Amino acid sequence: MENVHVAPVVGPEYESGYIRIDGDLIAEVAAGPAPEAPGVTRIDGTGCLATPGLVNTHHHLYQWASQGLAQDATLFEWLVALYQVWAAMDADVVEGAATAGLSWLALSGCTTTSDHHYIFPKGRGDLLAAEIEAARAVGLRFHPARGSMDRGQSKGGLPPDVVVEELDDILSATAEAVDAYHDPSFSSMLRVAVAPCSPFSASAELMTESAALAREKGVRLHTHLAETVDEDEHCREQFGLRPVDYMLKLGWLGPDVWLAHAVHLSDADIGKLAATGTGTAHCPSSNGRLGAGIARVSEMLRRGANVGLGVDGSASSELTPLAGEMRQALLYQRARYGPRALTARQALELATLGGARNLGRHHELGSLEPGKLADIALWRVDGPYTAAVADPVCALVFGPVPPLARVLVGGRTVVADGELRTLPQDEAGRAGLRARRRLARLAEERGFTAAEQIH
Ligand SMILES: [Zn+2]
Repeated sequence: MENVHVAPVVGPEYESGYIRIDGDLIAEVAAGPAPEAPGVTRIDGTGCLATPGLVNTHHHLYQWASQGLAQDATLFEWLVALYQVWAAMDADVVEGAATAGLSWLALSGCTTTSDHHYIFPKGRGDLLAAEIEAARAVGLRFHPARGSMDRGQSKGGLPPDVVVEELDDILSATAEAVDAYHDPSFSSMLRVAVAPCSPFSASAELMTESAALAREKGVRLHTHLAETVDEDEHCREQFGLRPVDYMLKLGWLGPDVWLAHAVHLSDADIGKLAATGTGTAHCPSSNGRLGAGIARVSEMLRRGANVGLGVDGSASSELTPLAGEMRQALLYQRARYGPRALTARQALELATLGGARNLGRHHELGSLEPGKLADIALWRVDGPYTAAVADPVCALVFGPVPPLARVLVGGRTVVADGELRTLPQDEAGRAGLRARRRLARLAEERGFTAAEQIH
């Protein structure tokens, strides 16, 4: 890859440089023209910006099949409206939704994504296997987090009992998922995490048992935390603690944990996240869509807490492209804290190295350095409008998402000339539409009409 503006996130930026790839690894990043070498495939990056592939650290891929619903609701209202629709999903819905969601991520420069799947209705097929198959087909590095809920309404939780599972079933299914799929090796394409859903849908016992299981298996922990004021009140009323202190009590802060949202934090909470090495997934569009609030990202960064980005499920962020979350994050922070709250390059770091740290993969991913995996996004910034911007990183972060000349995952082309190359792109998109129709039909058979949930 040559004649390209290289923004490596770590190390010097080159206005015109090259990246030499050997197998699935980056061998060299340097300024100037690439040296002549026989038998080498050359990618001309003239007019392009090379960045590390983006890392998405929070998603619910199945939600592609339930977009556009409960549009004006708070988080709790939105969940209550949608739980019964989601209760109808099956493996076909998940595979179609995940195929569309994952290809949409690839088309905005994503090379690694997590997914938090926490609803497993009985007798509806192997939902985790369905999304893993979709990730293989699209060609992204995948970190499915085996989610769970055991605190239904009859136990004081928010979800109806029909969407929760029994504790023992959850723990055995989660252990099986880790044993079946988790690959801890360098350059792994698939790692599993353990992920009870949230304090208001998972019991304390599920949280502590999940943490013990994850630590026994050497995998990471993920959950939602401190997303809304409603959750804050729920935790204080039910547990006598605010969310971060509740997590601390349950043994859920640590360098192997990353938390989605972390919007409503006190100064002391930020200190606890920083001191324990607990990461957070900032999901600004979802937080905006649900009116949840603005996370204190620039303060977290200043105090040494790690932050990555997440698009969150498509039902709460709709068609959010991952690359656009850099802009959203930057503007929110500046609106709250002023123009020096977050720079374009810091926003790029959140989307790359920050995400890699959340997933425990910062030695492999997140920057363009020799020895790291060749996961690279090549953005076309020479279009008639973007070419006028003096700084290509500014064009990428402040502007609309530029076209992608190439997306490489471990040196393998996933996107070229703005098109998905691993699957027929239109079919991948239409798989999401089929999933939506199927879910609507399955929900209707159970007496719930998705279309009635628009507002
Ligand atoms: Zn979420």
